[in-house]
Amino acid sequence: MKAIGVRRDGDQPVLLEKERPTPEKGEALVRTLRVGVDGTDHEVIGGSHGGYPDGEDHMVLGHEAVGVVEEPNGTGFDEGQVVVPTVRRKPNGETNEYFRRGEPDMAPEGEYFERGIVGEHGYMAEYFTSPADFLVPIPAELAEYGLFVEPVSITEKANEHAFSTREPFEWRPESACVLGNGSLGLLTLWMLQQKFDRTYCVGRRDRPDPTIEIIDELGSTYIDSRETAVDEIPEAHESVDYIYEATGFAPHSVQTVQALAPNGVGALLGIPEPWDFEIDGGSLHNEIVLHNKCLIGTVNSHITHFEDAVETLSEAPNWLLDDLITTVAEPTDVAPAFENDDDQIKAVVEFDSL
Ligand code: NAP
Ligand code: BGC
Ligand code: ZN
Repeated sequence: MKAIGVRRDGDQPVLLEKERPTPEKGEALVRTLRVGVDGTDHEVIGGSHGGYPDGEDHMVLGHEAVGVVEEPNGTGFDEGQVVVPTVRRKPNGETNEYFRRGEPDMAPEGEYFERGIVGEHGYMAEYFTSPADFLVPIPAELAEYGLFVEPVSITEKANEHAFSTREPFEWRPESACVLGNGSLGLLTLWMLQQKFDRTYCVGRRDRPDPTIEIIDELGSTYIDSRETAVDEIPEAHESVDYIYEATGFAPHSVQTVQALAPNGVGALLGIPEPWDFEIDGGSLHNEIVLHNKCLIGTVNSHITHFEDAVETLSEAPNWLLDDLITTVAEPTDVAPAFENDDDQIKAVVEFDSL
């Protein structure tokens, strides 16, 4: 079968010919429909994040997948059921307390593999196998957009963790700001637009630009970080109740604290490389304490976040999902899916359709 992967000695995705996998007990065989590409895939290809499966000279890419059950193999799924796989797996198949509790997203490094990212092959292949309890059924009508379930689940978790820190008091947030106009940032902007009176999205591009058009269409305010640094947002606009960082631009972690309103919460999602920069640690510490601010880090998501994401996605307008998908590439000509210019938002590799 065809698969797209990156070799240890390579820095570009390549077409591979691999054996179709055979499902083991408890696993189903899934025929892949579509696989999305995100910023993390670029970090994996560039070698700044993730790692290869032991003993393999390559890793199959892809963690945002949707497919159809081809062989239920006694798992209880029906043949033809559309499914989305979660990302984390037991390291070397050995379970641990996080997997036993159904919270693999809370496991520290070394206690998980991530398909297509670290330790285990991903889903960018004509077929993949997965334990049935890591497959989430979705309605057939959502199949075309099923690759968005995984990224939406990331934000379901981030929001759940961030908002739960504000539960002990009467928090009445009105404004939210997303840092980053990549695919994760724009999907999240739409989600926050449903919950908040006013939203902002920070990028670093000139108009005309397809991402700024989406920000405008959503009724959100675009902020150019080259003109208004994140810590200047309170002066230029307002201090913000909830900030969701999806840039991977490390200074944003600190600037977020200054941009937050008193009692506000910031969620950091980006995965930067080591990055030295100067900060006024005293003011940072003071600001967090005297204004009851909260900064959380959040990664990955578990099955309930995927289930919530399916519901959320079923309410997303088709124009948004269609505008986000800027490339649909074939496995035999995959290069356009890994181009990362300003016209690209969400690239998809399509193996099959329903
Ligand atoms: P992406 O497509 O690379 O998007 C990042 C966006 O941030 C780009 O549009 C970029 O703008 C913008 N940006 C970067 N620096 C900026 C700055 N200084 N000011 C304003 N905008 C800036 O990546 P993505 O797929 O949306 O993901 C976003 C980040 O989240 C990545 O670091 C990814 O690894 C991470 N992530 C984390 C999780 C998790 O579980 N924690 C899950 C998914 C993704 P330009 O395009 O104009 O450069
Ligand atoms: C994936 C997550 C993963 C994270 C860190 C993200 O792009 O969507 O599932 O946990 O990268 O590797
Ligand atoms: Zn991802």
